[in-house]
Amino acid sequence: MIVAIDGPAGSGKSTVARAMAAREHLTYLDTGAMYRSVTDAALTRGLDLDDARAVSELARDLDIVLDNGEQGPVVIVDGRDRTDAIRMPEVDANVSKVAAIPAVREAMVALQRKAAESTSVVAEGRDIGTVVFPAAEVKVFLTADPSARARRRAVQRQGGNTATDANAQANAEEQAKIEAELIERDRKDSTRATAPLKPAEDAVHIDSTELTVDEVCDKICELMERARA
Ligand code: C5P
Repeated sequence: MIVAIDGPAGSGKSTVARAMAAREHLTYLDTGAMYRSVTDAALTRGLDLDDARAVSELARDLDIVLDNGEQGPVVIVDGRDRTDAIRMPEVDANVSKVAAIPAVREAMVALQRKAAESTSVVAEGRDIGTVVFPAAEVKVFLTADPSARARRRAVQRQGGNTATDANAQANAEEQAKIEAELIERDRKDSTRATAPLKPAEDAVHIDSTELTVDEVCDKICELMERARA
């Protein structure tokens, strides 16, 4: 069984995909973490991100391991723990450029398909239902209002969690800045030539603005049941 969850930045994909993995005993595949790992490694090495050839070579050579440990998912790149490093603002600001390079995508998609060869997965990203796993049994396109998405991210950066504290508020200035960044990243991700962010034709759209994580998961579980029937 493959459950594909695509959608814009901050729509709740990671939280929902992780909850689904725990509920349904699926392997969680965070494909964004892969593009982030390449970006982080390129920045650390001081590569020119406009040099598509150098960045692609790096992407092919990197050893990226996504480990779903007991304390949560861990990202190990060339033997080093980069779990926190790949979430830094500098990576946020540059990842869309790296993810737009076709040869980088080719290398990452190969890793993603390999990860799902022998196990059931819930994979989240931008092109899972359209490109990576077009035959996925369940395809979800998860959205939320930009302000809700920005609030979740802003609260997260302050160390809070809107999934467990629905009323958590963020610093207004920080939230506005994050909203502008998310909108810009979505614009880049949905207008690139290769595998742009867009819903698969057969994806079920879920708007998570007014839903709890459990309510979104209930809907996806229903889709899984239907797919199994
Ligand atoms: O999901 P996350 O926000 O961590 O993704 C980071 C970036 O990685 C996205 O903004 C996008 O540029 C890229 N990405 C992608 N295709 C995917 C997953 C992520 O291009 N399947």
